[in-house]
Amino acid sequence: MTSTPPTPTRYGASRADLATVLAGQPAYRLDQIWSGLYEHFADPTELTAVPKTLRAEVADALPLALHGITESTSDGGETVKWLWELHDGMQVETVLMHYAGRSTVCVSSQAGCAMGCGFCATGQAGFDRHLTTGEIVEQVVRAGRRARDDGRRLSNVVYMGMGEPLANYDATWASVERLHADVGLSARHLTVSTVGIVPGIRKLTAETLPVNLAVSLHAADDDLRDDLVPINKRYPLSTLMDACADYLSIKGRRLSFEWALIDGVNDRDRDAELLSERARSLPLPAHVNLIPLNPTPGYAVRGTPARRVREFCDQLRHRGVNATVRRTRGTEIDAACGQLRAAHAGTAPVTIRPRAPRA
Ligand code: SAH
Ligand code: SF4
Repeated sequence: MTSTPPTPTRYGASRADLATVLAGQPAYRLDQIWSGLYEHFADPTELTAVPKTLRAEVADALPLALHGITESTSDGGETVKWLWELHDGMQVETVLMHYAGRSTVCVSSQAGCAMGCGFCATGQAGFDRHLTTGEIVEQVVRAGRRARDDGRRLSNVVYMGMGEPLANYDATWASVERLHADVGLSARHLTVSTVGIVPGIRKLTAETLPVNLAVSLHAADDDLRDDLVPINKRYPLSTLMDACADYLSIKGRRLSFEWALIDGVNDRDRDAELLSERARSLPLPAHVNLIPLNPTPGYAVRGTPARRVREFCDQLRHRGVNATVRRTRGTEIDAACGQLRAAHAGTAPVTIRPRAPRA
């Protein structure tokens, strides 16, 4: 049920589209406005070097695609989360996280997700549609603007919001290219996260830009992974590990395994052992990110208790694996994948600060 917005959106528009809007204007206006939109995350109305009527014309001709439903902050203002509505009523989430020395935005690549991982709020709700390149890029720009207004600089983008980026390959990759070429983010500051779509990893391997790859592993044996991550039945661990090995050999980029720790399910000694073997079998050992499972309405099992999380991390380290426990961000604002949207639909309570309608 993919539908196209009626006009090119501000960040879906190509330079040629902007040139059409600027017909009859001096040639330098194109670069001036393009760099204002991308490098400075500016709204056209902020471009004071451009005549006021022209600023208004650009804003009208190239409307934004994301309309803010809610904006909520937590962690003392260090985490900001948006729930956006798209032109067709779809809802997606974006999270901005400030850390010492960097600010990272987590973007959605699809409204919903078809991969059906049972522990994931997005997976529980099913697939609505792919996001367009403009809808993905605009999430980065809107977060970049907020970072700028907070006196910070947006430095990193992770494709870890709603959806499976490699199931929406073309729009995802076009957004990566635009973030690199026009926003000016370097490939090593861009991370694509995948549940393990092997053909997608192979396509990424063939691209010139060497982005970081995060693989959501969650289980290191096929039986358990088939349960947790159903796509494993199509792309089992042997083929996934081969694709990861090739990515590393060819790209020489950092690869991480994401592991949501689920109490009594994938946090046993044996899991640490198997995971260590997998991580160390690669040409460059994978870095392991441990995330205690965030509770979701549709999954009864809880996250691993903090003490066991630390032990599990130590078990990996003792086996020579570089592992870190991800600091959970924004749990009080449901900042995990798909949770804010689920909360908004009334399946879980959430405290949100209503925002001015329609940005
Ligand atoms: N579809 C991609 C990217 C989006 S999900 C992927 O699966 O990698 C981003 C990350 O959040 C993934 O590592 C996913 O496994 C993790 N995740 C999903 N639900 C979670 C939950 N309830 N608790 C902790 N991590 C979760
Ligand atoms: Fe989709 Fe990733 Fe959630 Fe799995 S974890 S359902 S792949 S968004």
